Amino acid sequence: MAKYRLDYIWLDGYSPVQNLRTKCTIKEFDEFPTLDQLPEWGFDGSSTKQAEGGDSDCILKPVALFPDPTRVHGILVMCEVMLPDGTPHPSNARATIADDEGTWFGFEQEYFLYQDGRPLGFPEEGYPEPQGLYYCGVGYSAVGDIGREISDIHLDYCLEAGINHEGINAEVAKGQWEFQIFGKGSKRAADEMWVARFLLQRLCEEYGLDVNYHCKPVKGDWNGSGMHCNFSTEYLRETGGKEYFLKLMDAFEENVEEHIAVYGPDNDQRLTGLHETQSIDKFSWGVADRGASIRVPHSFVKDDLYKGYLEDRRPNSQGCPYKIASRVIKTIQSVSV
Ligand code: ADP
Ligand code: MN
Ligand code: MN
Ligand code: MN
Repeated sequence: MAKYRLDYIWLDGYSPVQNLRTKCTIKEFDEFPTLDQLPEWGFDGSSTKQAEGGDSDCILKPVALFPDPTRVHGILVMCEVMLPDGTPHPSNARATIADDEGTWFGFEQEYFLYQDGRPLGFPEEGYPEPQGLYYCGVGYSAVGDIGREISDIHLDYCLEAGINHEGINAEVAKGQWEFQIFGKGSKRAADEMWVARFLLQRLCEEYGLDVNYHCKPVKGDWNGSGMHCNFSTEYLRETGGKEYFLKLMDAFEENVEEHIAVYGPDNDQRLTGLHETQSIDKFSWGVADRGASIRVPHSFVKDDLYKGYLEDRRPNSQGCPYKIASRVIKTIQSVSV
């Protein structure tokens, strides 16, 4: 028998952006436990906007587990929030995903590191050098010192936790970074994104920094932050074809409002038609077009096959990957093959 430290993680009931919450419990197991060995747990929903004070118990149902590389015998336990009767809580977007294992998602999370109410590297008054040399930049003037250290440590933590972190780049604005998470199965991909956000935020606590996920934290000629959503289904990867692709794009166009509704708040500040975006009220697709709503990679149209994955560029950095995946799958499923 050994004692394990279980950090249960869930999303609260704040709107429009849910926050990560966590609490820790110690349990004994013969060896590293499996998901079905982890008990359900409860919390006070009246403190997280998930219940009224008089009847405040909500249930934490473990749905994914990750070894915690930063704690002795630590395990990160991603949970869905359930009502006492065992049905999903209204804030539980994960439960709305019509999962199918053949769906793959790749999320590109952009974010700013923030200190003293401004992006890391911004002077107290005014602005740093205009954008230009920050994107994929090298050297202190471009990326400072702490930003790279944090994103590198975060990468190591994710890989050790079994999260499919796929890469890092310094982004277009000063103090702005990106990492990518890829998963086979939409729930798996979205779980990994939330736990990757958790690891990043907890790491930044040690530096006295916040992760600012707002999609346009700095007004003016500074890039906003997105969370491009790359997706494919088994049918898109193995069959595809131009006719199906055009039907799919029609369905995306018909559902513009439904998609934007779950693609993160304040997206009108970011989807302006400038800074490599399409404007919020328009829908377009284009091959290798970073100004389109959906960018079609060259590989997709190669030999006229229309096969592979697509990139929806509209979701923003505060978007919930459960809600985004759920909506994308819904639109795909509305199209007959
Ligand atoms: P860019 O910045 O040019 O848009 P990135 O390399 O940052 O490109 O992101 C590409 C994303 O596409 C990655 O997250 C990757 O995992 C994802 N991706 C690649 N192939 C597939 C696929 N078949 N299905 C879904 N996502 C995919
Ligand atoms: Mn990218
Ligand atoms: Mn990017
Ligand atoms: Mn992208």
